[in-house]
Amino acid sequence: MTNDLHYDVAIVGGGVTGVAAGVAAARAGARTVVLEPRPFVGGNATTGLCLHSFLTRDMRQTVFGIAQEVVDRLIAVGAAVGHIPYGGFVSAVTPVDGDWFRIVAAEMLAEAGAQVIYGASVVEVERDGAAITGLVTAMKGGLRIVRAGSYVDTSGDADIAAFAGCPTRKGETGTGKMQPVSMLMHFHNVDTQLIASTLGEVAPAMATRPDHPDPIPVYFNGTFSRWNDVIEREGIFPNRDHKVFFNTVWPTRVNVNTSAVFGVDGTDPLAMSRAMQELTRQCVRAGNFLKRHVPGFEDSYFTPQVVAGVRESRNIIGQYELSKEDVLEGRKFGDTIGQICFPVDIHHPDTGQAYFVDIGDDGAFDVPYRSLLPQGVENLIVAGRCLSATHFAHGATRNMAPCLVTGQAAGVAAAMAAQRNTPLSQLDVGDLQDHLAKDGAYLGRAFERSHAIV
Ligand SMILES: Cc1cc2nc3c(=O)[nH]c(=O)nc-3n(C[C@H](O)[C@H](O)[C@H](O)COP(=O)(O)OP(=O)(O)OC[C@H]3O[C@@H](n4cnc5c(N)ncnc54)[C@H](O)[C@@H]3O)c2cc1C
Repeated sequence: MTNDLHYDVAIVGGGVTGVAAGVAAARAGARTVVLEPRPFVGGNATTGLCLHSFLTRDMRQTVFGIAQEVVDRLIAVGAAVGHIPYGGFVSAVTPVDGDWFRIVAAEMLAEAGAQVIYGASVVEVERDGAAITGLVTAMKGGLRIVRAGSYVDTSGDADIAAFAGCPTRKGETGTGKMQPVSMLMHFHNVDTQLIASTLGEVAPAMATRPDHPDPIPVYFNGTFSRWNDVIEREGIFPNRDHKVFFNTVWPTRVNVNTSAVFGVDGTDPLAMSRAMQELTRQCVRAGNFLKRHVPGFEDSYFTPQVVAGVRESRNIIGQYELSKEDVLEGRKFGDTIGQICFPVDIHHPDTGQAYFVDIGDDGAFDVPYRSLLPQGVENLIVAGRCLSATHFAHGATRNMAPCLVTGQAAGVAAAMAAQRNTPLSQLDVGDLQDHLAKDGAYLGRAFERSHAIV
């Protein structure tokens, strides 16, 4: 293998988290590369799901920084409508357009000076003692080694931590069961107001657009209970009272999140390939059901999303594992790198039915820096869906506002560690926090008080 590539920071996975990490590392002055197998950045945000969530149940915003900047930029191009109050399982939703997310994300990476290599999949690591020395990366032309001072694992599946032999875990303690995988459906030419009034279990989140005369429904959820009989007869969904989630930023388009395949390990390519086929079939069945039976969909056109989405797979067992108690008590930590305020959101591994659990205390918990640090490797940091959290806590950490928060922190930490030639675990957390705060990230009230920020 020849032609090694050299950087200060190498980020594996240009998904939601990798975008924030790449922007943050490059802005911090590090020569940064983002390695992404797909021909686009943005990961699961490109499905067009809402970025949950920036505001606590009592409507206090705890997520800022790059996450808010993404939303502001999307608003500027008409592809987001801001943080919209909702009276359901969460107090506010942040709908965005998925295609515009990838466009804006790619632009932010380019502006920051990060290099993105598309079509690049990391398949193994080279390791020397406690340090990763290179990423074996499959790309057009064959395998190449990408070398950096610090490595950031934003693969969603903790691939790099696993390749490096760091301790990891999957799913529920004891059973190892993971949340189901799903595929979104995109509908055009729908009557969202009619769909919301037919299916919404509470009033829809309503937003205004400068280019549209009336407020439009942008988020609502409900069940298909009134069609239980036909659903059972035609085998559309496996259970009665099947839940469904809708979101959009457009007047006549809506994304529908309702499919599920169970028992799939997102790190197993063969299982994922089978799930992709099954989900596509399921979406076609469900889409035709909606067109035939649900008011507002009659004249619609739909397509299933291109890729299947993985809610849960492998997580690192890091230097600190976020627990159920941390979430239920809304715990705060001295080494906080940001806050999470979206409730625990678990789609049951056996039924797929979603349930939500609110965060305790003031409705937000801190993410300690240690939960991004794997065990046994000194120049690797892990952020996003695969950071260190139990199955329960992961129900909150896996969502996209948290991923943007942890991605930004991991990017800055990786840049600082590479520039200082310091192991990530010995990085001065106070310096990291100051850098993040200076960049507009919000670290919580405790941090504000200790730094006399008003
Ligand atoms: C069906 C579904 C619905 C959801 N609904 C919501 C919602 O409404 N709101 C919300 O906030 N969250 C939601 N989530 C959760 C959220 O979208 C994800 O957890 C989040 O996007 C994870 O971000 P990530 O950056 O960790 O992973 P991803 O966004 O998945 O990005 C990981 C990236 O890493 C790349 N990659 C993987 N392996 C490698 C490798 N070996 N080498 C190089 N690159 C690699 C992938 O190609 C991908 O681009 C949902 C998830 C699913 C599946």
